[in-house]
Amino acid sequence: MPFDQDLDQLLADIAEVAAPRASEGEVATYIPSLEDVPEDTFGLAVVELDGTEHVTGEADVPFPIQSISKVFSLVHAMQKADAGEGVAKELWERVGREPSGDPFNSLVQLEHERGIPRNPMINAGALVVDDILLSRCADPIRETKELLEKLCGEELGVDETVLRREGTRGHRNLAMAYLMSSFGNLENDPHDVLDVYGHQCAVQMTARQLARAVRFLANGGVEPASGERIVSAELARRVNAVMLTTGTYDNAGEFAFNVGFPCKSGVAGGIVGVVTGELGVCVWSPPLDPTGNSLAGRVALHELSERLGLSLF
Ligand code: GLN
Repeated sequence: MPFDQDLDQLLADIAEVAAPRASEGEVATYIPSLEDVPEDTFGLAVVELDGTEHVTGEADVPFPIQSISKVFSLVHAMQKADAGEGVAKELWERVGREPSGDPFNSLVQLEHERGIPRNPMINAGALVVDDILLSRCADPIRETKELLEKLCGEELGVDETVLRREGTRGHRNLAMAYLMSSFGNLENDPHDVLDVYGHQCAVQMTARQLARAVRFLANGGVEPASGERIVSAELARRVNAVMLTTGTYDNAGEFAFNVGFPCKSGVAGGIVGVVTGELGVCVWSPPLDPTGNSLAGRVALHELSERLGLSLF
């Protein structure tokens, strides 16, 4: 164990400090499966590169991964680049890599910036990544889910209610897709792109599974359990850079300041973290702060970083 502390005890101590903060946040109202989850639900999982797993609380309860999926769809597109299909150049011509400073579902910059989203971690950017996957993959929905299953070593389900809601209440995402189409930055029908996006958001995973699934990013692009290279070290480094600067939207500066390692959040209250050379991390607590990040999750990651000295800075 690389740490001279009892990590199981440490996680339990962190839960005690972080979980009560959930009462200050708001649960996303459009995710029906969260209605049955007590608001004080809290799970934290830390998986070492050697496979040792540490968890506390509800780390084995599945939840829709929502925007955490944006990391994996980007990786999926990067895999195509690694395979020499020229995707990386196309991708970075069509999506930026700057923080947006705006909410994840904001439309305002798209008009000024001629349909080029600021980064792939906001909704508009993820839609362009999905458009690329739709053009390049035989079955992008199945392939992205299979990537997640490979990375966590288990079969995964889909939250069908979330899937239906993504379709019926996705007006804002559809508006973004049409706006980008009008600037020539989508190749496929906006509804088809939204379908790929909705499926990736609705995949259900536990905190433990997600902590396992991000470990390849802490390990130079190689999945540590199997030794399989998922992406090149260069691309893994760049995914981490994008996560650090944009993965928690207009709170990314705050995360860099207090947590100091790459993170990606989802609106169901999950946040994954990558500690290079050491750990995959995932925390889950549904109530969100005004920027759409899990409130208790942010506190827990701050505590974890402080107590183990994990900040890059
Ligand atoms: N499905 C959500 C949406 O598109 C994902 C956003 C998120 O998790 N932040 O609004």
